[in-house]
Amino acid sequence: MVANITSIRHDFPILNTKLPNGQHLVYLDSGASAQRPQVVIDKISEIYEHYYSNVHRGVHQLGDRVTTEMEAARARVQTFIGASYPEEIIFTSGTTMSINLAAQTWGRHHLNAGDEIILNEMEHHANFVPWQAIAKERNATLKFIQLTPDGRLDLEHYHSLLSSKTKMVAVTGMSNMLGTINPVEEMAQRAHEVGALIFVDGAQSVLHQPVNVIESEIDFLAFSGHKLFGPSGIGVLYGRKALLETLPPFLFGGNMISEVHCDHSSWANIPARFEAGTPPIAEAIALGTAIDYVSQLGFDTIQEQEYLLSQYALQKLQEVPGLQIYGPQELEMRGAIFSFNIEGAHPEDLATLLDRKGIAVRHGHHCTMPLHQWLNITASVRASLTFYNTTEEIDVLIDALEFARKRLR
Ligand code: PLP
Repeated sequence: MVANITSIRHDFPILNTKLPNGQHLVYLDSGASAQRPQVVIDKISEIYEHYYSNVHRGVHQLGDRVTTEMEAARARVQTFIGASYPEEIIFTSGTTMSINLAAQTWGRHHLNAGDEIILNEMEHHANFVPWQAIAKERNATLKFIQLTPDGRLDLEHYHSLLSSKTKMVAVTGMSNMLGTINPVEEMAQRAHEVGALIFVDGAQSVLHQPVNVIESEIDFLAFSGHKLFGPSGIGVLYGRKALLETLPPFLFGGNMISEVHCDHSSWANIPARFEAGTPPIAEAIALGTAIDYVSQLGFDTIQEQEYLLSQYALQKLQEVPGLQIYGPQELEMRGAIFSFNIEGAHPEDLATLLDRKGIAVRHGHHCTMPLHQWLNITASVRASLTFYNTTEEIDVLIDALEFARKRLR
């Protein structure tokens, strides 16, 4: 484990609290929502206690301060993902909103009958249904990249799907169920060769590996604050400036206009054009704090710890009799998310028994019904790890799984 794991864990107060039944929390559900460090919690309290007000409106000192801090947070996001301009960063309520925004505004403007969008069955519903809906609305067609038996994208099949009809390739950076890490850079290059765009759902990937939207040629990127150790209710849509400038608004109201008259209105420049209404102000600022935290910790430390944990978890899980892990078994192709089933045990019963031991995991379809259909299962249990987890916690999980396996047989 990384040398400073004890002090890292101290940064996250919830990891050191006891559950109502007196047990120590073993939090293995960061893929659903990560926990936040004290600095993020403090930042939110500080804003509400000392200088909260609305942004981009008043000339008063509070308004000035939150506006300056929110725009500074935008610049932090820009640096974090390697974007060229701060106005390429649109604050939304989360990944789901970011994808709906992009699919609707881009789709209504650029998608025509007979055009094709390339998807695949491992996508989270958030990066699936919005494309399905806009394709239906615009009479476009969805094409699906086949998955390999171990749950990776079949790249040869992907290449064969690309044509001049392809307008968008929507893909997740990392599967929230299989843990598969997708080769988005290579996929982007191939998409661009046929004149298509690439949309990357970074909800799971941006916290596990550094992203650079310029180097990876990503046209759109979406992610959520609550999975990146920041607040819930805040998310990001990155779009290339030249692309965003061609797009009309998605939501209408205050902040997104240039002028309003009784018979017509005109739109503000980006990013305000896509930020109608009062934004999640404290959340946006505290997302900047979360990004500072992650940046200070560094992706070298994050990746080292996650690799060690994944190695340990994979080996230990593989030793549990009757346990099937989904997704690639090679560490190089996957992140620290492990979905599995135990023969004869219902995932909900398994998750309930784990909860009795203080272990928080997720069960169900994890918003990936097409993937579960492809796997021919209805549900699974998911343990999702991050840099603040430990091998001792994995041992607790394995012991509890052994116990549950015997109880549920
Ligand atoms: N995409 C992926 C890969 C996810 O894992 C999730 C959440 O679990 C989402 C999208 C949706 O994120 P949110 O609920 O924050 O909008």
